[in-house]
Amino acid sequence: MRQVIIIGSGPAGYTAAIYAARANLKPLVIASSVEAGGELMKTTEVENFPGFPEGIQGPDLMTAMQEQAEKFGAEVVLDDVVELDLKGPVKRVTLGNGDVEEALTVIFATGSAYRRIGIPDEDRLSGMGVSWCATCDGFFFRQKTIAVVGGGDSAMEEATFLTRFADKVYVIHRRDKLRASKIMQDRAFANDKIEFVWNKEVRHIYGDTQVKGVGLLDTVDGTETIMDLDGLFIAIGNDPRTHLVHGQLDLTAEGTIAVDGRSSRTNIPGVFAAGDVIDPHYRQAVTAAASGTVAALDAEHYLASLPETALSAPADTAAAIA
Ligand code: NAP
Repeated sequence: MRQVIIIGSGPAGYTAAIYAARANLKPLVIASSVEAGGELMKTTEVENFPGFPEGIQGPDLMTAMQEQAEKFGAEVVLDDVVELDLKGPVKRVTLGNGDVEEALTVIFATGSAYRRIGIPDEDRLSGMGVSWCATCDGFFFRQKTIAVVGGGDSAMEEATFLTRFADKVYVIHRRDKLRASKIMQDRAFANDKIEFVWNKEVRHIYGDTQVKGVGLLDTVDGTETIMDLDGLFIAIGNDPRTHLVHGQLDLTAEGTIAVDGRSSRTNIPGVFAAGDVIDPHYRQAVTAAASGTVAALDAEHYLASLPETALSAPADTAAAIA
């Protein structure tokens, strides 16, 4: 039986792994089969992670975090968690390959998933001109006319990045004010290839096998218009990935995992949560990393509070720990 299993491999998961490994807890990191490294694997330049005055590419940052965790003894598995049993003193984590891992503590750091607009055409044309990842798919839109939906930092970042490929990038936003930080707004406003389409919601996406255009609803006067496009990038935020713990861990009204104050303690002893999955507000790489630190320290304190026998007990006798 292990002492710590960390689920998730973004800045929260890997920072928790670095701390737990340095505390000699030999953490197992379940990093995901397709999304190892988390959201930063899909970004380009990260300019606001302290210590990199020239910026660093998102994938380089995540590779460095993984290496740092492994250097201190973390074990990283590229698989997905398909089932979690968190109730008893021994937590059971079932992987996609059928293996069942057991540990006295679990740190849940699964981050968040791209939000969808919620219209049927979105899924139908996903991969056929509809995308959630400019760095993954931007290359396919050379000399095309495309649009980005959203008014936050993600939308500004995606739109700015996409001007490397596309001739024209519209930013479609449902209000007439952006939510994005000033520096990201200014960069987008200064880009000749970007044009803002204010007060519009995407109601339809047209095209049989490839995006041909969108139907827009004016949020002020209710009029509908059609815009011809070759591609649509959706950048309207993220939702915490909590499906694995529904019915086990308490959630907040915002859908994040509920934790006790500034700690990472969930409603189940021995289960800790960190990063975007507990944070509806700040959601930065550096805040996620800090949150991972908190979780590792909380897990360490929890383990230290258990009777000595618990740490070496086989799974079936560990029931006595409770
Ligand atoms: P966000 O800040 O929550 O912004 C989401 C945007 O999408 C908002 O403008 C929102 O409109 C719009 N939106 C939400 N649901 C919509 C819907 N159903 N239809 C149409 N529009 C919708 O999300 P984000 O831009 O992904 O950023 C998330 C966090 O990551 C933020 O803290 C951000 O600072 C951070 N981030 C930082 C960087 C960076 O610093 N380089 C890059 C990316 C993200 P309203 O404004 O009307 O609500």
